[in-house]
Parts: sequence; structure tokens; C-alpha cells
Amino acid sequence: MKYSELMIRYGELSTKGKNKMRFVNKLRQNIQEALAIYPEVTVYFDRDRGHVYLNGADYQPVAESLKKIFGVQNFAPSYKVEKSVPALKEAVQTIMKNIYQDGMTFKIAARRSDHSFELDSRDLNQVLGDAVFTAIPNVQVQMKSPDITLRVEIRADAAYISHEEIMGAGGLPVGTSGKGVLMLSGGIDSPVAGYLALKRGVDIEAVHFASPPYTSPGALKKARDLTRKLTAFGGNITFIEVPFTEIQEEIKNKAPEAYLMTLTRRFMMRITDRIREKRNALVIINGESLGQVASQTLESMQAINAVTSTPVIRPVVTMDKLEIIEIAEKIDTFEISIQPFEDCCTIFAPDRPKTNPKIKNVEQYEARLDVDALVERAVAGIIVTEITPEAVADEVDELIGDLL
Ligand code: ATP
Ligand code: MG
Repeated sequence: MKYSELMIRYGELSTKGKNKMRFVNKLRQNIQEALAIYPEVTVYFDRDRGHVYLNGADYQPVAESLKKIFGVQNFAPSYKVEKSVPALKEAVQTIMKNIYQDGMTFKIAARRSDHSFELDSRDLNQVLGDAVFTAIPNVQVQMKSPDITLRVEIRADAAYISHEEIMGAGGLPVGTSGKGVLMLSGGIDSPVAGYLALKRGVDIEAVHFASPPYTSPGALKKARDLTRKLTAFGGNITFIEVPFTEIQEEIKNKAPEAYLMTLTRRFMMRITDRIREKRNALVIINGESLGQVASQTLESMQAINAVTSTPVIRPVVTMDKLEIIEIAEKIDTFEISIQPFEDCCTIFAPDRPKTNPKIKNVEQYEARLDVDALVERAVAGIIVTEITPEAVADEVDELIGDLL
């Protein structure tokens, strides 16, 4: 027997009341896009369930793709069976013989959405349970937490049987919470922050600051590769490269060493906020983690954050490094993040940055620079590209490979 569909339960989406269909429609769209790489597969969603019809496609790779899509609580690979009592009996017997191991307990959980079917759910539980006893005489029934639950659903077109439930990614469908811009460096933390924002339904665009020739093409490629990893969870991601060399040189020339970091971060924040506005996004997301480095003390955060009133979401702010790394490994960004390409902040980093910058000083040093014009030029020079899950990757690699 071959699985015919993956049946999806919405989980948290069921609590959305009147808004539910907006969430469900977005989920359907995201699933359709993610599964477009499997030409046979079709998708149908109703109020209570989503159905991914395999139409002959192998179920395992499709299930792997589905596991990464936010908004799916769990899903059950299901067999399609002719809607008749003899066919159902034969099916439960075959399935049980396949999966039963000595000592296991079971139950049948039947549901009838087609009320014209000859047996109701109670009778179905009885008749199909008896069929299982005939096939495996020693098996025990157990109502509460049995080892095997055979779910039988009588629908309009056919009957469906499932016996395993696969955990989904949980969260909310990407795009249902609006859009945010992610400040993406080449480090470990910001891709994890991006993943966690996607998980709560935020559609992201990635903003990356590059300072060539101080930063290498390798650092840029790293940021793009990290972005590509994130597309597995949310589909295409717009990648925005910001030319940051002029600003870093200006700061280096005109501000005292101890304040380089604070000033640099304030510029990043201002520019990101301008880009956010241009791209119609609602929030800024970054990978700051409290106390991890000098720029991430509460005093620094306050000085840096002072340039905008836009909400800044910091998904990893209270996590320990090891907790962040655990997620980075799970989402497969860790190996890329630890590649040794310095990004713009490391290169201009002072030996002893201020951990408690004074706003009064910050403003005094900034007055030496033409802040507005510098921001304006950086924003005017952004390069916007679209990063897709697989394809394009090779082209970009070739392009950058030439430069390395
Ligand atoms: P990460 O691992 O994300 O690089 P980090 O621990 O190295 O974080 P910092 O270098 O202090 O921390 O950066 C803090 C945050 O500032 C990053 O998580 C990221 O959101 C943002 N950021 C830093 N450098 C860049 C950059 N070159 N481009 C875009 N955002 C950046
Ligand atoms: Mg970093």
C-alpha cells in the first residue's frame, strides 16, 4: 500500500476565530509554493484540514519539505481506501500486519463526515476492531494512549486511514504577521533571529552591510548563503546589500576610537530604518543577545536604539550562545556562519569599545559628520536582489567564484 496524501492539522490557527481563513489561505499559498518542486503534488485546503495529494509522488521528500513550513502543527500520511466495509476491513488488516509488533496495543478512531455511509463511527470502530482481532488474535485494545491509533475517516470521495502523526514546524504561516527587515551579518546569531521571526509569521527581507575592499566577496557570499538557508522556511527572500565603506571610513577618521562601535551601529540602525520604510516593512529584526559583546549591553542598546522609534525585535536577546548555536545547527546555518570571512564590524572594531556610551558624547561626535548626507548616499547605493531556494545559487556562486 502507498500513501495517497498528507493530511494537515492547523493547530494554533484554529484559535484565530474570524481571521482563521486569512491564516489558512496564506498557509495554503506557502505550501503550494514550497511543494511546487514536486510536479505531481496538488494541494486542497478546507476550514478544518489541509490535504496534500501525492498523486503517485514519493511521500518522504514531500514530508521533509512540509516539516519546514510554519503554521503546520502536525500531519498524517494517509492511505486512500474504497468506501466499502470489506475494503476497509482488508485495509486495516494489511496496515496492522505491517506495523504491529509483539505486545503493542491499538484502537480504531473512526470519523464519518459522509453521513450517508452505512455505518456510523461507533459501528465502524467495532467492525474494524473485530477485523484487526481476526488478523492478529493476540493484540490488545487500549482506549487511552495505545501504541497504535488507526484513524479512519469516511469522506465524500473515499475513506482515508492513517496511523502516524508527524510533528510540523508549528508557528504561524510566514506573511501573516506582516513584514520586517532583518539585519543579517555573517555571524551565528542573526540568521537564527531571522528564523525565529519567520516562525512567528513575519515575512523578512535581509539587509547586509558590506565595506569593500575591507570586507571580502567571501563575506558577502556568506550572507547570501545564509539567506538562502532561510528560504527553506519562508520562500524567496529579498537581499539588500548596503555600501558601508564611506561611512566606516568617515567615522574612523573623525570619532574617538572608543566610540567607533556605537556610532557605526547607530548608522546601521538609521539606514536599516530608511530601507524598512522604503520596503513597506513594519519592524527591524536583529541578532543582538544581551551581554554577548560591547554593543549588546543595555546601555549600548539604548544609545543605538535612540535613533529610531521603530520597534526592534531581538528574538535571541535572552538566549545563551549555546542555545543559539543549537538552533543554528538545527536550521543548518552554523557551518556557514563559522566560515572565516570578517564582516565590516570586526574589521573596524576598536580594541576597547565603550560598553556604557553616553548619549551626550555620542551626539557630540556625530556632529562632526554629515549624518543625513552619508545615510542618503548609502540608501541610494543599495543593491536589491531576490534569493530563491535552490536554482540561482549556482549562478551566484559562479559569479562570486570569479571574484574570490
Ligand atoms: P551575529 O552572529 O548575528 O553576527 P554578533 O554576536 O556577531 O551577531 P554583532 O556583530 O555585535 O553580534 O552584531 C549584532 C547584530 O547587528 C547582528 O546580529 C546583526 O543583526 C547586526 N549586524 C552586525 N553586523 C551586520 C552587518 N554587516 N550587516 C547587517 N547587520 C549586521
Ligand atoms: Mg557579527
